[in-house]
Amino acid sequence: MPSLADITRALPDYKPGDLPVDTARHIVASCIKPLEGSELLPLQACLGRILAADLLSPINVPAHDNAAMDGYAVRGTELAEGLDFTIAGTAMAGTPWPGRLQTQQCVRIMTGAVMPTGCDTVIMQEVVVVEGNRVRVPAHQKTGQNRRLAGEDLQAGKPALHAGKKIGPAELGLVASLGIAQLEVRRRLRVAIFSSGDELRSLGETLDEGCIYDSNRYTLTGLLQGLGVEVIDLGVVRDRPEDLEAAMRTACTQADAIITSGGVSVGEADFTRALMARLGEVAFWTIAMKPGRPFAFGRIRSGASSAVLFGLPGNPVAVMVTFLVFVREALLHMAGASDTRPPLISAICDSPIKKSPGRTEYQRGILSATADGLHVRVTGAQGSGILRSMSEANCLIVLAPDQGSVSAGQAVPAWLFEGLL
Ligand code: AMP
Ligand code: MG
Repeated sequence: MPSLADITRALPDYKPGDLPVDTARHIVASCIKPLEGSELLPLQACLGRILAADLLSPINVPAHDNAAMDGYAVRGTELAEGLDFTIAGTAMAGTPWPGRLQTQQCVRIMTGAVMPTGCDTVIMQEVVVVEGNRVRVPAHQKTGQNRRLAGEDLQAGKPALHAGKKIGPAELGLVASLGIAQLEVRRRLRVAIFSSGDELRSLGETLDEGCIYDSNRYTLTGLLQGLGVEVIDLGVVRDRPEDLEAAMRTACTQADAIITSGGVSVGEADFTRALMARLGEVAFWTIAMKPGRPFAFGRIRSGASSAVLFGLPGNPVAVMVTFLVFVREALLHMAGASDTRPPLISAICDSPIKKSPGRTEYQRGILSATADGLHVRVTGAQGSGILRSMSEANCLIVLAPDQGSVSAGQAVPAWLFEGLL
């Protein structure tokens, strides 16, 4: 793994004071690799976990050709001979019909039942005329219709799921359909968080003059739980060098990654930055984005332990936006996940947005599906301290650096919270 300094040195126009979002994301991605370690878990405990190795299917799913409809199973070639058939027996799901068909015979068959030997076509029951044990089939049936082929879902010996797949409800069912009761999943990533600032009070404490409640830790806990990582909450740390150093060292020994909020901007007491830099290799960036300008990233060490560090700005909206833009993907990658970034979708912006070119802007938006397509409008005040704007929004409108003001009616890309948060 190259050092942070090597990576930044290799970038032609690296300016830590005005770093484009894409460059910062590139640097973060270059410094991160998936962690080692996995565990074998019962399938029921695997929701949200990441598959550690390719999962080969031990069987064909479905195991046999079977009926996709209730009806009558026939041999397709016989449809050309005549449309009258005699019912020779019944095939139920779970109880195959064991016989062999004589000329112009059919089998009454239920959905999911194994196709009787020689049969390749199911005539749906709604279209036939039945009289006693005789069935009359209408013309123009197609050979092979209403039949599911063995292995059409999953083939024996082929990967049913690939390493890095996040196990969701569909995967739980798919694994169960293979008869597999346990999965080898990546160990959970451990992420330590703390908030820094003398003005911060924890819930339950009295709010002294000029103080505020620490909200960032709660937001971050929610974001991290959504990713399925283990959260180590180290509380609020005062702007005191010895407290900060102790918190950093504890975080370093307990976690794979550390997320702090506050204390990385230039106006802040210098020891936060100086401390981060002293404990490892940390770059301080002013990112060309709004909200979320100040951002620290690197790796710190304490004794034999080391951890990746994300120093987020203090403003609550900036915390969420920088997390979504930089941290989320990096953590998922460390956790071993393969596809990590939900797509941007395009929507017509109903409200004008003022913007000057030069930086990426993330506006909180409300996206809705209307009869004439997807529309989005911005939530009210967009200040980086106004957390209500995140709560009211269901997406972030992403305005590229070279983009100027947006007029109403223009299409803009948006990033839906659903799937992100
Ligand atoms: P800082 O980055 O430390 O200069 O903080 C920027 C702004 O964010 C200040 O108004 C802080 O009071 C506020 N802030 C910092 N940390 C938190 C937090 N954990 N919860 C809520 N607001 C915070
Ligand atoms: Mg502060």
